[in-house]
Amino acid sequence: MKMDLAIRNGFLFDGTGNPAVKADMGIADGRIVRIGRIDGTEAGRTLDASGLAVCPGFVDMHNHGDNGILAFPSADSHIMQGVTTSVTGNCGESMAPLDDGTIELARRYVAPFVPPCEAVDWSWRTSGEYMRAVAAVGTAQNLAFLVGQGTIRIAAKGFASSRASAAEMAHMKALLREALADGCFGLSSGLIYPPGSFTGTEELLELAGELAPAGALYATHLRNEGNYLAESMEEALELGRRWNIPVQLSHHKALGRPNWGKVRHTLRMMEEARAEGIDVCCDAYPYTAASTTVTSLLPPFALEGGVEETLQRLREPEARRRMAEEIRRKGCQWENWIADAGLENIVLSECSLRPEVEGKTLREIVGTHAAGADPLDGLFDFLAEVRCLAKMVIFAIDEEDMKAVLAHPLSCIASDAWVSAPSAGGRPHPRGYGTFPRFLRRYVLDGKLMTLQEGIRKITSMPAFRLGLQDRGLLREGFRADVTLFDPYRICDHATFTDPHRFPEGIPWVIVNGAVVVEEGRLTGRLPGMILRRA
Ligand SMILES: [Zn+2]
Repeated sequence: MKMDLAIRNGFLFDGTGNPAVKADMGIADGRIVRIGRIDGTEAGRTLDASGLAVCPGFVDMHNHGDNGILAFPSADSHIMQGVTTSVTGNCGESMAPLDDGTIELARRYVAPFVPPCEAVDWSWRTSGEYMRAVAAVGTAQNLAFLVGQGTIRIAAKGFASSRASAAEMAHMKALLREALADGCFGLSSGLIYPPGSFTGTEELLELAGELAPAGALYATHLRNEGNYLAESMEEALELGRRWNIPVQLSHHKALGRPNWGKVRHTLRMMEEARAEGIDVCCDAYPYTAASTTVTSLLPPFALEGGVEETLQRLREPEARRRMAEEIRRKGCQWENWIADAGLENIVLSECSLRPEVEGKTLREIVGTHAAGADPLDGLFDFLAEVRCLAKMVIFAIDEEDMKAVLAHPLSCIASDAWVSAPSAGGRPHPRGYGTFPRFLRRYVLDGKLMTLQEGIRKITSMPAFRLGLQDRGLLREGFRADVTLFDPYRICDHATFTDPHRFPEGIPWVIVNGAVVVEEGRLTGRLPGMILRRA
Protein backbone atom coordinates (compact mmCIF):
# COMPACT_ATOMS: atom_id res chain seq x y z
CA MET A 1 0.00 0.00 0.00
CA LYS A 2 1.28 3.45 -0.90
CA MET A 3 1.20 5.76 2.13
CA ASP A 4 0.00 9.36 1.87
CA LEU A 5 2.78 10.88 3.92
CA ALA A 6 6.04 9.69 5.43
CA ILE A 7 7.82 11.64 8.16
CA ARG A 8 11.43 10.53 8.13
CA ASN A 9 14.50 10.92 10.34
CA GLY A 10 12.75 12.62 13.27
CA PHE A 11 13.01 11.98 17.00
CA LEU A 12 9.72 10.31 17.89
CA PHE A 13 8.25 11.10 21.30
CA ASP A 14 5.32 8.70 21.49
CA GLY A 15 3.49 10.70 24.20
CA THR A 16 3.69 8.04 26.92
CA GLY A 17 6.54 9.80 28.69
CA ASN A 18 9.10 7.48 27.15
CA PRO A 19 12.27 9.08 25.75
CA ALA A 20 12.53 9.71 22.02
CA VAL A 21 13.52 7.10 19.48
CA LYS A 22 14.83 7.78 16.02
CA ALA A 23 12.24 6.39 13.64
CA ASP A 24 10.13 7.15 10.59
CA MET A 25 6.37 7.32 10.60
CA GLY A 26 3.89 6.67 7.82
CA ILE A 27 0.37 8.05 7.48
CA ALA A 28 -2.50 6.80 5.29
CA ASP A 29 -6.21 7.64 5.34
CA GLY A 30 -5.81 9.91 8.34
CA ARG A 31 -4.16 7.31 10.54
CA ILE A 32 -0.66 6.34 11.57
CA VAL A 33 0.01 3.12 9.67
CA ARG A 34 3.67 2.46 10.35
CA ILE A 35 6.39 3.38 12.80
CA GLY A 36 9.84 2.07 11.91
CA ARG A 37 11.90 2.34 8.76
CA ILE A 38 10.33 3.81 5.63
CA ASP A 39 12.18 4.41 2.41
CA GLY A 40 11.67 7.45 0.21
CA THR A 41 9.53 5.70 -2.39
CA GLU A 42 6.83 4.28 -0.14
CA ALA A 43 4.75 7.43 0.32
CA GLY A 44 3.15 10.00 -1.96
CA ARG A 45 4.89 12.71 -0.01
CA THR A 46 7.96 12.54 2.20
CA LEU A 47 8.86 15.05 4.85
CA ASP A 48 12.37 15.26 6.25
CA ALA A 49 12.14 15.74 10.01
CA SER A 50 15.90 15.68 10.73
CA GLY A 51 16.56 17.46 14.01
CA LEU A 52 12.88 17.78 14.83
CA ALA A 53 10.83 16.32 17.65
CA VAL A 54 7.85 14.42 16.25
CA CYS A 55 5.07 14.01 18.78
CA PRO A 56 1.34 13.55 19.07
CA GLY A 57 -0.65 16.74 18.36
CA PHE A 58 -1.09 18.81 21.49
CA VAL A 59 -4.38 18.56 23.40
CA ASP A 60 -5.57 21.75 25.09
CA MET A 61 -7.46 20.51 28.13
CA HIS A 62 -9.32 23.74 28.79
CA ASN A 63 -10.24 26.55 26.45
CA HIS A 64 -13.14 28.53 25.08
CA GLY A 65 -12.69 27.73 21.41
CA ASP A 66 -16.39 26.94 20.99
CA ASN A 67 -17.22 30.67 21.24
CA GLY A 68 -15.11 31.68 18.27
CA ILE A 69 -14.74 28.62 16.07
CA LEU A 70 -17.52 29.69 13.68
CA ALA A 71 -15.74 33.03 13.18
CA PHE A 72 -12.23 31.52 13.05
CA PRO A 73 -12.61 27.98 11.69
CA SER A 74 -8.91 27.79 10.86
CA ALA A 75 -8.24 28.37 14.61
CA ASP A 76 -5.01 30.18 13.74
CA SER A 77 -3.94 30.93 17.32
CA HIS A 78 -4.35 27.31 18.45
CA ILE A 79 -3.16 25.50 15.33
CA MET A 80 0.07 27.51 15.07
CA GLN A 81 0.96 26.31 18.59
CA GLY A 82 0.60 22.68 17.51
CA VAL A 83 -2.75 22.20 19.25
CA THR A 84 -4.73 19.63 17.29
CA THR A 85 -7.53 19.00 19.83
CA SER A 86 -9.30 21.49 22.08
CA VAL A 87 -11.58 20.83 25.02
CA THR A 88 -14.17 23.61 24.88
CA GLY A 89 -17.35 24.72 26.62
CA ASN A 90 -15.56 25.45 29.86
CA CYS A 91 -16.22 27.53 32.97
CA GLY A 92 -19.96 26.81 32.92
CA GLU A 93 -20.40 28.61 29.64
CA SER A 94 -21.19 26.73 26.43
CA MET A 95 -22.96 27.73 23.21
CA ALA A 96 -25.77 25.22 23.84
CA PRO A 97 -28.32 24.19 25.01
CA LEU A 98 -30.52 27.20 24.28
CA ASP A 99 -34.19 27.57 25.11
CA ASP A 100 -36.58 29.76 23.10
CA GLY A 101 -37.86 31.41 26.27
CA THR A 102 -34.45 32.50 27.59
CA ILE A 103 -32.32 32.65 24.45
CA GLU A 104 -31.77 36.42 24.73
CA LEU A 105 -30.33 35.99 28.24
CA ALA A 106 -28.11 33.17 27.03
CA ARG A 107 -26.89 35.21 24.09
CA ARG A 108 -25.96 38.10 26.37
CA TYR A 109 -24.27 35.65 28.75
CA VAL A 110 -21.81 34.60 26.03
CA ALA A 111 -21.84 37.85 24.02
CA PRO A 112 -18.51 39.20 25.34
CA PHE A 113 -16.80 36.06 24.02
CA VAL A 114 -18.42 35.53 20.64
CA PRO A 115 -16.79 37.45 17.79
CA PRO A 116 -19.25 39.06 15.37
CA CYS A 117 -19.72 36.66 12.50
CA GLU A 118 -22.41 35.74 9.99
CA ALA A 119 -22.24 32.04 10.77
CA VAL A 120 -23.35 32.75 14.35
CA ASP A 121 -27.09 32.78 13.64
CA TRP A 122 -28.21 31.22 16.96
CA SER A 123 -30.40 28.77 15.06
CA TRP A 124 -29.15 25.78 17.07
CA ARG A 125 -30.76 24.73 20.35
CA THR A 126 -29.09 21.48 21.46
CA SER A 127 -25.38 20.66 21.77
CA GLY A 128 -25.79 18.23 18.90
CA GLU A 129 -27.20 20.98 16.69
CA TYR A 130 -24.33 23.29 17.60
CA MET A 131 -21.83 20.52 16.79
CA ARG A 132 -23.46 20.14 13.38
CA ALA A 133 -23.34 23.92 12.81
CA VAL A 134 -19.60 23.88 13.51
CA ALA A 135 -19.06 20.82 11.33
CA ALA A 136 -20.94 22.50 8.46
CA VAL A 137 -18.50 25.44 8.51
CA GLY A 138 -15.53 23.17 9.22
CA THR A 139 -12.72 23.39 11.75
CA ALA A 140 -8.96 23.00 11.53
CA GLN A 141 -8.73 21.43 14.99
CA ASN A 142 -10.60 18.57 16.61
CA LEU A 143 -13.11 19.76 19.19
CA ALA A 144 -14.30 18.01 22.33
CA PHE A 145 -17.26 19.77 23.92
CA LEU A 146 -18.28 20.13 27.53
CA VAL A 147 -21.73 21.47 28.34
CA GLY A 148 -21.83 24.46 30.69
CA GLN A 149 -23.79 24.34 33.93
CA GLY A 150 -24.47 28.08 33.61
CA THR A 151 -25.84 27.67 30.11
CA ILE A 152 -28.07 24.79 31.24
CA ARG A 153 -29.35 26.83 34.20
CA ILE A 154 -30.17 29.81 31.99
CA ALA A 155 -32.13 27.52 29.67
CA ALA A 156 -34.13 26.21 32.63
CA LYS A 157 -34.61 29.33 34.77
CA GLY A 158 -33.01 32.37 33.18
CA PHE A 159 -30.81 34.54 35.38
CA ALA A 160 -32.84 34.08 38.55
CA SER A 161 -30.68 33.66 41.64
CA SER A 162 -33.29 31.56 43.47
CA ARG A 163 -32.90 27.85 44.21
CA ALA A 164 -34.04 25.56 41.44
CA SER A 165 -37.51 24.12 41.95
CA ALA A 166 -38.14 20.41 41.51
CA ALA A 167 -39.47 21.03 38.00
CA GLU A 168 -36.47 23.21 37.07
CA MET A 169 -34.12 20.59 38.49
CA ALA A 170 -35.76 17.91 36.36
CA HIS A 171 -35.47 20.17 33.31
CA MET A 172 -31.75 20.80 33.91
CA LYS A 173 -31.07 17.09 34.36
CA ALA A 174 -32.86 16.32 31.12
CA LEU A 175 -30.79 18.96 29.29
CA LEU A 176 -27.56 17.50 30.70
CA ARG A 177 -28.56 13.96 29.70
CA GLU A 178 -29.35 15.19 26.19
CA ALA A 179 -25.96 16.94 25.89
CA LEU A 180 -24.16 13.78 27.02
CA ALA A 181 -26.15 11.72 24.54
CA ASP A 182 -25.12 14.20 21.83
CA GLY A 183 -21.47 13.43 22.63
CA CYS A 184 -20.43 16.05 25.18
CA PHE A 185 -17.58 14.79 27.37
CA GLY A 186 -19.00 16.17 30.58
CA LEU A 187 -20.22 19.17 32.53
CA SER A 188 -18.28 22.35 33.19
CA SER A 189 -19.02 24.87 35.90
CA GLY A 190 -17.87 28.45 36.43
CA LEU A 191 -18.90 29.17 39.99
CA ILE A 192 -17.65 32.76 40.04
CA TYR A 193 -19.94 33.67 37.14
CA PRO A 194 -23.68 34.05 37.44
CA PRO A 195 -25.71 31.92 37.25
CA GLY A 196 -23.01 29.46 38.45
CA SER A 197 -22.45 31.74 41.44
CA PHE A 198 -26.17 31.52 42.23
CA THR A 199 -25.99 27.72 42.31
CA GLY A 200 -25.68 26.10 45.71
CA THR A 201 -23.63 22.98 46.43
CA GLU A 202 -26.74 20.82 46.85
CA GLU A 203 -28.04 21.77 43.41
CA LEU A 204 -24.65 21.07 41.84
CA LEU A 205 -24.43 17.72 43.60
CA GLU A 206 -27.84 16.71 42.38
CA LEU A 207 -27.19 17.77 38.78
CA ALA A 208 -23.79 16.04 38.70
CA GLY A 209 -25.53 12.76 39.48
CA GLU A 210 -26.44 12.66 35.79
CA LEU A 211 -22.72 12.29 34.98
CA ALA A 212 -22.40 9.12 37.03
CA PRO A 213 -23.92 6.50 34.70
CA ALA A 214 -21.60 7.65 31.91
CA GLY A 215 -18.61 8.33 34.16
CA ALA A 216 -18.46 11.69 32.39
CA LEU A 217 -16.12 14.47 33.45
CA TYR A 218 -16.89 17.32 35.85
CA ALA A 219 -14.58 20.27 35.07
CA THR A 220 -14.82 23.24 37.37
CA HIS A 221 -13.72 26.82 37.68
CA LEU A 222 -13.86 26.84 41.48
CA ARG A 223 -16.19 29.11 43.43
CA ASN A 224 -13.18 30.95 44.78
CA GLU A 225 -9.49 30.75 43.81
CA GLY A 226 -8.28 33.21 46.45
CA ASN A 227 -9.35 33.52 50.09
CA TYR A 228 -11.47 30.34 49.97
CA LEU A 229 -9.42 28.22 47.56
CA ALA A 230 -9.22 25.11 49.76
CA GLU A 231 -12.91 25.28 50.75
CA SER A 232 -13.91 25.64 47.10
CA MET A 233 -11.76 22.69 46.17
CA GLU A 234 -13.41 20.63 48.88
CA GLU A 235 -16.78 21.39 47.24
CA ALA A 236 -15.49 20.06 43.90
CA LEU A 237 -14.00 16.95 45.51
CA GLU A 238 -17.35 16.20 47.16
CA LEU A 239 -18.92 15.77 43.71
CA GLY A 240 -16.23 13.22 42.84
CA ARG A 241 -16.67 11.47 46.17
CA ARG A 242 -20.46 11.31 45.93
CA TRP A 243 -20.77 10.14 42.32
CA ASN A 244 -17.43 8.51 41.58
CA ILE A 245 -16.90 10.80 38.57
CA PRO A 246 -13.62 12.28 37.33
CA VAL A 247 -13.07 15.83 38.59
CA GLN A 248 -10.94 18.31 36.64
CA LEU A 249 -9.87 21.45 38.52
CA SER A 250 -9.63 24.08 35.80
CA HIS A 251 -6.72 26.56 35.50
CA HIS A 252 -5.54 25.78 39.02
CA LYS A 253 -3.94 28.69 40.87
CA ALA A 254 -4.04 30.83 44.01
CA LEU A 255 -5.17 34.38 43.29
CA GLY A 256 -3.94 37.40 45.19
CA ARG A 257 -0.74 37.99 47.13
CA PRO A 258 -2.19 37.03 50.55
CA ASN A 259 -3.06 33.62 49.07
CA TRP A 260 0.22 32.89 47.34
CA GLY A 261 1.68 29.59 48.48
CA LYS A 262 -1.73 27.95 48.99
CA VAL A 263 -1.30 25.67 45.96
CA ARG A 264 1.21 23.61 47.94
CA HIS A 265 -1.67 22.75 50.23
CA THR A 266 -4.21 22.21 47.42
CA LEU A 267 -1.82 19.98 45.46
CA ARG A 268 -1.49 17.88 48.62
CA MET A 269 -5.29 17.84 48.91
CA MET A 270 -5.42 16.43 45.37
CA GLU A 271 -2.94 13.69 46.27
CA GLU A 272 -4.93 12.80 49.38
CA ALA A 273 -8.19 12.77 47.43
CA ARG A 274 -6.66 10.38 44.92
CA ALA A 275 -5.45 8.16 47.76
CA GLU A 276 -9.07 8.15 48.93
CA GLY A 277 -10.18 7.00 45.46
CA ILE A 278 -11.34 10.28 43.90
CA ASP A 279 -10.20 10.63 40.28
CA VAL A 280 -9.04 14.27 40.42
CA CYS A 281 -6.58 16.13 38.19
CA CYS A 282 -6.00 19.76 37.35
CA ASP A 283 -4.79 21.90 34.49
CA ALA A 284 -2.90 25.18 34.38
CA TYR A 285 -1.59 27.81 32.00
CA PRO A 286 2.03 29.00 32.14
CA TYR A 287 1.34 32.67 32.90
CA THR A 288 1.07 34.76 36.07
CA ALA A 289 -1.98 36.65 34.81
CA ALA A 290 -5.59 35.52 34.48
CA SER A 291 -8.17 36.89 32.07
CA THR A 292 -11.92 37.21 32.12
CA THR A 293 -14.82 39.57 31.50
CA VAL A 294 -15.11 42.88 33.39
CA THR A 295 -18.50 41.97 34.86
CA SER A 296 -16.56 39.65 37.19
CA LEU A 297 -15.33 42.77 39.00
CA LEU A 298 -18.81 43.23 40.48
CA PRO A 299 -20.29 41.38 43.46
CA PRO A 300 -22.83 38.61 42.65
CA PHE A 301 -25.94 40.62 43.59
CA ALA A 302 -25.05 43.21 40.95
CA LEU A 303 -25.25 40.56 38.23
CA GLU A 304 -28.66 39.12 39.06
CA GLY A 305 -31.15 39.15 36.20
CA GLY A 306 -28.60 39.58 33.42
CA VAL A 307 -26.62 42.38 31.83
CA GLU A 308 -29.49 44.87 31.35
CA GLU A 309 -30.25 44.79 35.06
CA THR A 310 -26.54 45.15 35.88
CA LEU A 311 -26.35 48.24 33.67
CA GLN A 312 -29.37 49.63 35.52
CA ARG A 313 -27.69 49.09 38.90
CA LEU A 314 -24.52 50.79 37.67
CA ARG A 315 -26.60 53.98 37.40
CA GLU A 316 -28.48 53.72 40.73
CA PRO A 317 -26.80 55.47 43.70
CA GLU A 318 -28.04 52.94 46.27
CA ALA A 319 -26.85 49.94 44.24
CA ARG A 320 -23.51 51.65 43.58
CA ARG A 321 -23.04 52.27 47.31
CA ARG A 322 -23.72 48.60 48.04
CA MET A 323 -21.40 47.41 45.24
CA ALA A 324 -18.57 49.59 46.58
CA GLU A 325 -19.19 48.32 50.09
CA GLU A 326 -19.03 44.67 49.00
CA ILE A 327 -15.89 45.23 46.92
CA ARG A 328 -14.21 46.82 49.96
CA ARG A 329 -15.39 44.23 52.50
CA LYS A 330 -12.51 42.17 53.87
CA GLY A 331 -12.49 38.39 53.41
CA CYS A 332 -15.56 38.20 51.16
CA GLN A 333 -16.52 34.79 49.79
CA TRP A 334 -17.05 35.79 46.16
CA GLU A 335 -14.05 36.13 43.82
CA ASN A 336 -13.13 39.76 44.40
CA TRP A 337 -10.55 40.55 41.71
CA ILE A 338 -10.06 44.14 42.85
CA ALA A 339 -9.24 43.01 46.40
CA ASP A 340 -7.03 40.18 45.08
CA ALA A 341 -5.04 42.16 42.54
CA GLY A 342 -5.67 45.91 42.93
CA LEU A 343 -6.81 48.31 40.20
CA GLU A 344 -3.18 48.83 39.13
CA ASN A 345 -2.77 45.13 38.25
CA ILE A 346 -5.88 44.83 36.10
CA VAL A 347 -5.43 45.73 32.42
CA LEU A 348 -8.25 46.25 29.93
CA SER A 349 -7.54 43.83 27.10
CA GLU A 350 -10.51 44.07 24.75
CA CYS A 351 -13.04 46.88 24.65
CA SER A 352 -14.73 47.42 21.30
CA LEU A 353 -16.67 50.52 22.44
CA ARG A 354 -13.56 52.33 23.72
CA PRO A 355 -10.60 50.68 21.98
CA GLU A 356 -8.25 53.47 23.11
CA VAL A 357 -8.30 52.06 26.67
CA GLU A 358 -6.99 48.64 25.57
CA GLY A 359 -3.65 48.08 27.29
CA LYS A 360 -4.36 50.54 30.10
CA THR A 361 -4.76 49.58 33.75
CA LEU A 362 -8.03 50.18 35.57
CA ARG A 363 -6.13 52.59 37.81
CA GLU A 364 -5.13 54.60 34.74
CA ILE A 365 -8.64 54.50 33.31
CA VAL A 366 -10.50 55.60 36.44
CA GLY A 367 -7.67 57.92 37.45
CA THR A 368 -8.82 60.31 34.74
CA HIS A 369 -11.78 61.16 37.00
CA ALA A 370 -11.66 64.16 39.35
CA ALA A 371 -8.95 64.04 42.01
CA GLY A 372 -10.25 62.93 45.40
CA ALA A 373 -13.21 61.12 43.85
CA ASP A 374 -13.82 57.45 44.73
CA PRO A 375 -12.08 55.34 42.08
CA LEU A 376 -14.91 52.79 42.29
CA ASP A 377 -17.32 55.52 41.14
CA GLY A 378 -15.08 56.01 38.14
CA LEU A 379 -15.10 52.26 37.57
CA PHE A 380 -18.90 51.98 37.70
CA ASP A 381 -19.22 54.89 35.24
CA PHE A 382 -16.76 53.22 32.92
CA LEU A 383 -18.50 49.82 33.04
CA ALA A 384 -21.85 51.48 32.29
CA GLU A 385 -20.34 53.41 29.42
CA VAL A 386 -18.89 50.31 27.76
CA ARG A 387 -22.05 48.33 28.61
CA CYS A 388 -19.90 45.74 30.44
CA LEU A 389 -18.63 44.57 27.03
CA ALA A 390 -14.94 44.27 27.79
CA LYS A 391 -12.35 41.76 28.86
CA MET A 392 -9.47 42.21 31.24
CA VAL A 393 -6.14 40.66 32.18
CA ILE A 394 -5.38 40.36 35.89
CA PHE A 395 -1.85 39.99 37.25
CA ALA A 396 -2.46 38.05 40.47
CA ILE A 397 -0.55 34.74 40.34
CA ASP A 398 2.83 33.89 41.87
CA GLU A 399 5.29 32.30 39.43
CA GLU A 400 6.58 29.89 42.09
CA ASP A 401 3.01 28.67 42.66
CA MET A 402 2.49 28.33 38.93
CA LYS A 403 5.69 26.29 38.57
CA ALA A 404 4.65 24.00 41.42
CA VAL A 405 1.36 23.30 39.63
CA LEU A 406 2.97 22.83 36.19
CA ALA A 407 5.54 20.43 37.61
CA HIS A 408 3.05 18.31 39.54
CA PRO A 409 2.33 14.89 37.98
CA LEU A 410 -1.45 15.45 38.30
CA SER A 411 -1.53 18.59 36.13
CA CYS A 412 -1.85 18.93 32.41
CA ILE A 413 -1.52 22.14 30.40
CA ALA A 414 -4.32 24.31 29.08
CA SER A 415 -4.59 27.71 27.45
CA ASP A 416 -7.98 28.84 28.85
CA ALA A 417 -8.01 31.00 25.70
CA TRP A 418 -10.55 32.05 23.12
CA VAL A 419 -9.67 31.09 19.58
CA SER A 420 -8.26 34.03 17.69
CA ALA A 421 -6.49 35.25 14.59
CA PRO A 422 -4.36 38.34 13.99
CA SER A 423 -7.33 40.01 12.27
CA ALA A 424 -9.33 39.88 15.53
CA GLY A 425 -7.66 42.93 17.06
CA GLY A 426 -7.76 43.84 20.75
CA ARG A 427 -5.11 42.82 23.23
CA PRO A 428 -6.20 39.38 24.40
CA HIS A 429 -4.18 37.44 26.96
CA PRO A 430 -1.09 36.11 25.11
CA ARG A 431 -1.87 32.58 26.28
CA GLY A 432 -4.10 32.29 23.21
CA TYR A 433 -0.99 32.28 21.00
CA GLY A 434 1.74 31.16 23.37
CA THR A 435 0.71 28.59 25.98
CA PHE A 436 2.21 25.41 24.54
CA PRO A 437 5.50 26.72 23.08
CA ARG A 438 5.98 28.82 26.22
CA PHE A 439 5.46 25.79 28.47
CA LEU A 440 7.97 23.74 26.46
CA ARG A 441 10.57 26.50 26.11
CA ARG A 442 10.44 28.31 29.43
CA TYR A 443 9.42 25.59 31.88
CA VAL A 444 10.56 22.32 30.29
CA LEU A 445 13.58 22.87 28.02
CA ASP A 446 15.10 25.89 29.83
CA GLY A 447 13.44 25.77 33.26
CA LYS A 448 13.88 21.98 33.52
CA LEU A 449 10.80 21.49 35.70
CA MET A 450 10.60 18.06 34.05
CA THR A 451 12.10 16.04 31.21
CA LEU A 452 11.03 16.83 27.66
CA GLN A 453 9.25 13.48 27.36
CA GLU A 454 7.27 14.19 30.54
CA GLY A 455 6.39 17.69 29.29
CA ILE A 456 5.14 16.16 26.05
CA ARG A 457 3.08 13.58 27.97
CA LYS A 458 1.33 16.43 29.82
CA ILE A 459 0.16 17.99 26.56
CA THR A 460 -0.68 14.80 24.64
CA SER A 461 -1.62 11.43 26.17
CA MET A 462 -2.52 12.73 29.62
CA PRO A 463 -5.36 15.02 28.48
CA ALA A 464 -6.38 12.57 25.71
CA PHE A 465 -6.76 9.74 28.22
CA ARG A 466 -8.53 12.09 30.64
CA LEU A 467 -11.17 12.48 27.93
CA GLY A 468 -11.27 8.76 27.29
CA LEU A 469 -10.06 9.16 23.70
CA GLN A 470 -9.11 5.73 22.42
CA ASP A 471 -7.12 6.67 19.33
CA ARG A 472 -5.45 10.02 19.97
CA GLY A 473 -2.70 11.35 22.22
CA LEU A 474 -0.05 8.78 21.30
CA LEU A 475 2.04 7.96 18.25
CA ARG A 476 0.85 4.40 17.69
CA GLU A 477 0.04 2.43 14.61
CA GLY A 478 -3.72 2.60 14.14
CA PHE A 479 -4.08 5.90 15.97
CA ARG A 480 -5.41 9.04 14.24
CA ALA A 481 -2.63 11.03 12.63
CA ASP A 482 -2.64 14.16 14.80
CA VAL A 483 1.04 15.09 14.78
CA THR A 484 3.09 18.13 15.79
CA LEU A 485 6.71 18.61 14.77
CA PHE A 486 8.87 21.10 16.63
CA ASP A 487 12.48 22.14 16.79
CA PRO A 488 13.67 21.84 20.42
CA TYR A 489 16.37 24.46 19.79
CA ARG A 490 14.02 27.05 18.32
CA ILE A 491 10.57 26.55 19.79
CA CYS A 492 9.39 29.61 21.74
CA ASP A 493 6.40 31.89 22.15
CA HIS A 494 6.40 35.49 20.89
CA ALA A 495 3.01 36.74 22.06
CA THR A 496 3.21 39.33 24.84
CA PHE A 497 0.66 41.30 26.81
CA THR A 498 1.34 44.38 24.68
CA ASP A 499 1.66 42.50 21.39
CA PRO A 500 -0.41 39.33 21.78
CA HIS A 501 -1.31 38.44 18.18
CA ARG A 502 2.08 36.93 17.44
CA PHE A 503 2.57 33.35 16.37
CA PRO A 504 5.22 31.22 18.05
CA GLU A 505 8.38 29.98 16.39
CA GLY A 506 9.90 26.55 15.88
CA ILE A 507 6.73 24.54 15.10
CA PRO A 508 7.12 23.96 11.35
CA TRP A 509 4.59 21.16 10.80
CA VAL A 510 1.20 20.39 12.27
CA ILE A 511 -0.97 17.56 11.01
CA VAL A 512 -4.63 16.97 11.92
CA ASN A 513 -6.29 13.68 10.95
CA GLY A 514 -3.52 13.13 8.41
CA ALA A 515 -3.93 16.53 6.71
CA VAL A 516 -1.22 19.18 6.88
CA VAL A 517 -2.55 22.35 8.58
CA VAL A 518 0.84 24.00 9.17
CA GLU A 519 3.45 23.60 6.46
CA GLU A 520 6.94 25.01 6.97
CA GLY A 521 5.56 27.33 9.64
CA ARG A 522 2.61 28.63 7.61
CA LEU A 523 -1.10 27.89 7.90
CA THR A 524 -2.47 25.96 4.95
CA GLY A 525 -6.10 26.92 5.66
CA ARG A 526 -7.27 23.32 5.52
CA LEU A 527 -10.11 22.28 7.85
CA PRO A 528 -9.63 18.56 8.60
CA GLY A 529 -10.74 18.78 12.26
CA MET A 530 -13.46 16.52 13.62
CA ILE A 531 -16.13 16.94 16.26
CA LEU A 532 -15.18 14.35 18.84
CA ARG A 533 -17.90 12.55 20.72
CA ARG A 534 -17.66 10.73 24.02
CA ALA A 535 -17.39 7.01 23.47
ZN1 LIG B 1 -12.49 29.76 34.16
